[in-house]
Amino acid sequence: MHSKKLKQDINRRSFMKEACILAGGAALLGATVGSAVGAEIPRYTPIPSRWDDEVDIVIIGSGGAAAASAISAHEGGIKKILILEKAPFSGGASAISGGAMAASNSKLHLQEKNGIKDSEKLHYEDTIKAGEYKGHPELVKKLCYEAPNTINWMVDLGFEFRDKLMRLGGHSVPRGYNFVGSGPGMMRTAKKLLKEREITILLEHRVVDILRDGPRKGRVKGVKVDHRGKELNIKAKKAVIMAAGGFSANIAMRMKHDPTLNEKLGNTSTKYVTGDGIVMGKSIMSDTVDMDYIQSIPRSTPRGKLGKVAVETFWKIGQGAIDVNKKGKRFVNSLAKRAVESSFILKQEKPIFVIYDEKLKSKAGALSDDEYLKAIKRGRIIQGSTIEDLAKKAGINASALVGTIDEYNSYVDSGKDPVFGRPVLKVKIDKSPFYAIPSWTAVHYTMGGLVINTRTQVKDILDNIIPGFYAVGEVTGGVHGTCRLGSNALSEIWTFGRTAGKMAAAEKSWV
Ligand SMILES: Cc1cc2nc3c(=O)[nH]c(=O)nc-3n(C[C@H](O)[C@H](O)[C@H](O)COP(=O)(O)OP(=O)(O)OC[C@H]3O[C@@H](n4cnc5c(N)ncnc54)[C@H](O)[C@@H]3O)c2cc1C
Repeated sequence: MHSKKLKQDINRRSFMKEACILAGGAALLGATVGSAVGAEIPRYTPIPSRWDDEVDIVIIGSGGAAAASAISAHEGGIKKILILEKAPFSGGASAISGGAMAASNSKLHLQEKNGIKDSEKLHYEDTIKAGEYKGHPELVKKLCYEAPNTINWMVDLGFEFRDKLMRLGGHSVPRGYNFVGSGPGMMRTAKKLLKEREITILLEHRVVDILRDGPRKGRVKGVKVDHRGKELNIKAKKAVIMAAGGFSANIAMRMKHDPTLNEKLGNTSTKYVTGDGIVMGKSIMSDTVDMDYIQSIPRSTPRGKLGKVAVETFWKIGQGAIDVNKKGKRFVNSLAKRAVESSFILKQEKPIFVIYDEKLKSKAGALSDDEYLKAIKRGRIIQGSTIEDLAKKAGINASALVGTIDEYNSYVDSGKDPVFGRPVLKVKIDKSPFYAIPSWTAVHYTMGGLVINTRTQVKDILDNIIPGFYAVGEVTGGVHGTCRLGSNALSEIWTFGRTAGKMAAAEKSWV
């Protein structure tokens, strides 16, 4: 009893703090409707006496988690599904993502075709280990064991994947499936599927409150929306699905949980991922978990963004490229998990460089030959005829870089990296021309968020399920532990979104 009360008090205090942080963000974004998100003290908003609209399922946010939920709910026979998006465009972080999605196998048999031995168990072991065993085992299991079937579902729906797998840090084998057209391609297909199913997305509709019977009990019945200053109450007869993404763009909120992540660090996502879903959830007593685990990504652009050239660095590192600093020295196992790599990058002088040769350039990657030429022309990728030439053009210590490459090539011969213990030492860096991509690190992903179970039902601070309320994607916590592995987020949003849609469709209408 005592510990329950304590947990209640702690959670109440922390949601007060968070709402104040959000209040600042809401003011900046010009919210005018009184609400949990915009209020100075989070407050419960009672069920309104009048509704402006009614649907079966309301989905908050329009990224991949929302799309998966909507498509799956439609498969469950639901016709009136409404997606509400606060930005003037749809797609969220999902639409600017690299489009890598982890799965240990699928009906496309890419692992088998590429001679790779993989399994759900190995994917699970890599994921839970990367998260330092803090990921909830049942949620991690769901992610890894259901991912192959999720890919199969998506193939049947018409999503297209490239035939090459990517190997990202922390995965012990290549298992990154790649959408044709990367993240934008993935969301173009998703949007087409939503359109075919006549599922509406309303832009500039910022959800500001979850409407529940009582602050701590009862059912979720709808949402309150701010549409350009006009308040709308929308009834959700079956369920509300929260898919509002993470909080990497909310500097105050991320500094509350990790004071080192100040305004000096860029954010690779859009400015709209400000943690609204977490604050709204808290205003109806939803529990949160893992809020202190915030991920910076190794190899953003020096300005802290991602883009095709940054994604190219991930392809090349997986194939054998190395990271060096301005002194021309390696400083990390380039295939370590993100938290490790980022912490080592932050100890170097800005920028660091990804170095590779023509052999690696011609392997599968994110850029076409034409895009390479353009990136070289604008200095985003540096090309040199020799290692010395490359080093001079990039501003790297030339004699040190020559020594580093010689040493690295000798490790390829011996099959062992005695200094950093990097695996994958198959390809020497020895064929002209040589390439360098200047890189840095930036806030990328927030592992914490609303507490859910494997059915994507949101739990309250007393561990009860909140009826009619589901959450999916980066707004949730507990799936990745302390460190999300690259490509696991897309597996998560499509797998858990599919479940949320199914669950919401099966809910009894409260009307
Ligand atoms: C540049 C980049 C590259 C990435 N590449 C990969 C990759 O290759 N593989 C991988 O696995 N992961 C990748 N990730 C991570 C992954 O893309 C995200 O974690 C995932 O797409 C999140 O999906 P989501 O649907 O939960 O949220 P999002 O796609 O961010 O969608 C959330 C939406 O909710 C909206 N919203 C927020 N608050 C409100 C509100 N109050 N009312 C209405 N709408 C609201 C937001 O505007 C946004 O559109 C990448 C992330 C970034 C930023």
